[in-house]
Amino acid sequence: MTDRFYDVVIAGGGFVGQSLALALAKIAPRGFRIALVDAEPSKSGDAIRDARASALSAATKNLLSVLDVWPKLAPDAQAIESIEITDSPLHAGLRPHLLGFGDDELKEGEPSAFMVENRDIQHALAAVVAEQPAIDSFTPGSITDFESDAFRVVSHFATGETIEAALLVAADGKRSQLRERAGIKCVSWSYPQRGIITTVTHTIPHQGRATQHFLPAGPFAILPLKGNRSAIVWTEEKDRAETIIASNEADFLSELTTRFGNHLGELAIVGPIQSFPLDFQVARNFVTDRMVLVGDAAHVVHPLAGQGLNIGMRDVAALTEIVVEATRLGLDIGSPVQLEHYQRWRRFDSAFSAAVMDGLNRLFSNDNAPLRALRDLGLGVVDRAPALKRFFVREAAGTTGNAPRLLLGESF
Ligand SMILES: Cc1cc2nc3c(=O)[nH]c(=O)nc-3n(C[C@H](O)[C@H](O)[C@H](O)COP(=O)(O)OP(=O)(O)OC[C@H]3O[C@@H](n4cnc5c(N)ncnc54)[C@H](O)[C@@H]3O)c2cc1C
Repeated sequence: MTDRFYDVVIAGGGFVGQSLALALAKIAPRGFRIALVDAEPSKSGDAIRDARASALSAATKNLLSVLDVWPKLAPDAQAIESIEITDSPLHAGLRPHLLGFGDDELKEGEPSAFMVENRDIQHALAAVVAEQPAIDSFTPGSITDFESDAFRVVSHFATGETIEAALLVAADGKRSQLRERAGIKCVSWSYPQRGIITTVTHTIPHQGRATQHFLPAGPFAILPLKGNRSAIVWTEEKDRAETIIASNEADFLSELTTRFGNHLGELAIVGPIQSFPLDFQVARNFVTDRMVLVGDAAHVVHPLAGQGLNIGMRDVAALTEIVVEATRLGLDIGSPVQLEHYQRWRRFDSAFSAAVMDGLNRLFSNDNAPLRALRDLGLGVVDRAPALKRFFVREAAGTTGNAPRLLLGESF
């Protein structure tokens, strides 16, 4: 592998890195070569430890359709048919919704979001990547350093071997070693919360309904999966989360049931219980000499609206458009002009989304009476304004504004 030359080297083969490799392989002109490097061995079958499910926006679905990944995912994808948002106290007998989205708003065209288990996304992406002759996968392989000049970027594996390209993409996640190596600082903080996730079955069908229950310690989300199953994303204050995770199954189920309520009948836990630290993090720069950041390496957002991966997919779509157009024109894809174009397109949008998630978490994760009255009033107004609701749904679908063409489902 030493000194092989590629057009693009992608360090990090998570969902964002794999999607970018596929997008470039499918759309760039013939002869375009991509190296996809991931620190972990190829993940498939039981080796996939991530028990989460992800809410994929309509825009992400469009991108995955162009990449021929969606047909593999579609049988396992559950459309979100309605959304209910409440902040009722846990002991309240009734939990009236503050804001609800139903057929009128969500069924304008297609569903605005789908729930898919991460293991299914991983299987589907890996299968399509493996079919692409333009992608060389290096797994396990760790890119730990790089240096660039006017013509190329040389990436260094931890083993000492090197690989060259016109552009290096850091898709190496929130603790990105390459971002650090480049000296790019972040605006970041850790939330005093953890995200507990698991999967449950229930005796009553969910009818595609997603529920977001804002509690003082953080949001508790019930997200519909295929069959009589729902994914739980339960944000809890850190110490309390650790106690809950350490409890035995009966105690865990009892805590869970208190929050879940009994509207879907009897519950059983059917997935592993995992917990995740929650952070806010936005890189001050998304580019440096011949290197760009994508996905969690560039931005990490609170998961309360299930947007982290969707924002990463916007990076994929924007970068693919820029790189492919530059390649077709015979331009240098790693030149400062192209990198600046990417940065202008993606930095403000990502920072804005991260700030909105942060604001919502602060607004709802508390029991402050005046704030509660104010937010309930605000959501009550939105709930009575169909046009405003449709606006929010279109925004969440991710296909508005200056969306890159792949997010509209257009190949080019
Ligand atoms: C509880 C929770 C729920 C969430 N739910 C949703 C949701 O519903 N919808 C949504 O859109 N988002 C959601 N997210 C966010 C989403 O999971 C992330 O934004 C997304 O997985 C990031 O993908 P990535 O490929 O950028 O990074 P990662 O998934 O972190 O992938 C990085 C990859 O880089 C590799 N790597 C690391 N270092 C190196 C190196 N030096 N060289 C080579 N490879 C390297 C790693 O092995 C890894 O495979 C959620 C997050 C949490 C915590």
